Amino acid sequence: MGGIKELNGLIDGYEKEMVATLSQMVRLPAVSPVNGGKGEVKKAAYLKDLLERWGFKVKTYAYKDPTGSPRPNLIAKYGNAKRTLWLLSHLDVVAEGERALWKTDPFTPAIKDGKIFGRGTTDNGQSAVASIFALKALKELGIEPKYNVGIGLVADEEIGSAYGIAKLMNEGIFKASDMYVVPDVGAADGSEIEIVEKSALWLKVTIHGKQVHASTPEQGLNAFRCMVRYLAKVDELLHKKYKKKDSLFDPNVSTFEMTKHEKNVDSTNIIPGKEVFYIDSRILPQYEVDKVLGDIKRLSKGKEFKGARFEFEIIQREDATKPTKSSSEIARLLANTIRKQRRIKPRFIGIGGGTVAAFFRRKGMPAVCWSTCDPVAHQPNEYAKIKDMVADAKVFAALFLK
Ligand SMILES: [Zn+2]
Repeated sequence: MGGIKELNGLIDGYEKEMVATLSQMVRLPAVSPVNGGKGEVKKAAYLKDLLERWGFKVKTYAYKDPTGSPRPNLIAKYGNAKRTLWLLSHLDVVAEGERALWKTDPFTPAIKDGKIFGRGTTDNGQSAVASIFALKALKELGIEPKYNVGIGLVADEEIGSAYGIAKLMNEGIFKASDMYVVPDVGAADGSEIEIVEKSALWLKVTIHGKQVHASTPEQGLNAFRCMVRYLAKVDELLHKKYKKKDSLFDPNVSTFEMTKHEKNVDSTNIIPGKEVFYIDSRILPQYEVDKVLGDIKRLSKGKEFKGARFEFEIIQREDATKPTKSSSEIARLLANTIRKQRRIKPRFIGIGGGTVAAFFRRKGMPAVCWSTCDPVAHQPNEYAKIKDMVADAKVFAALFLK
């Protein structure tokens, strides 16, 4: 039987193998087929094979997305206990973004200064690797875990989880009495445990006016002018009306940001007859998403927009859930383990992004998010620190000691 010292020593010895595993994952990009990528098939097959070679049983749940591509999710369990403590990471990655901003190829791993560079290294490869090596260490030392170790490597997280956790929730895999750790959020020193998320509302707005020559504006309807005036009103009203603060979050307020703007006309002398733009709102749980949406729509009915037609399309909507209690068993277990392993005092926080934890919280299942990482997810030159990956594996393994 092993204890914490043996576990930590064994995991230190895994470092090279962990680096090789994360490197191989970078070479198997899992961008959603809906966004023109290849999906998780190859990456899932690689990890399934690895886990099976270590002697674990792995079940694959694959769901077809609208492009007809299978989206595999892997589930592995270990132990003979009644309850399961789950470690849930996602296999998919976002696209590389602007290629010119990368110093190395986003899908060829590069190791420098103790970091592995590549798309998907921090989000969410590091945690996937840390989880499976924590599991390997428990088995290798013959440790009978206090809870069953449940490893979930899920698909489609980056664009809403429709072919990942949303479908898995209906398979009868996850029990209300289980506990859930989602290592997909983190601070650089590992001191933040996320227990609640803001609501998210992504809105596409189209304004139809009338395109004419720029010398005769009176004959048309300038959609660009409508957009500018409309957004000024939206910006002012939302920030004024929804201004509550909540210190659990950073930033501590709701955010309302105009983001993407689609190309309009090709020439300076054309008055645009159509504008398409996007608003990204992250709303504190104190407010109802429907109220915000209602205000955004209502503002388009002003007199100054007479003749223009507004269309609203919800691209994504996630209503905030009740937080996981900081006094819940999993929150306390994780906080204690971090305190012992790292000698730091963790604190509980809320974030503006979304993770798969919300799916569990919505059903009243306790889920906490934690990992150790720099804030480089979705950025060019994304990286994971090797020492963070190894240290997180030690925390994960320690969660299962009696
Ligand atoms: Zn992620």
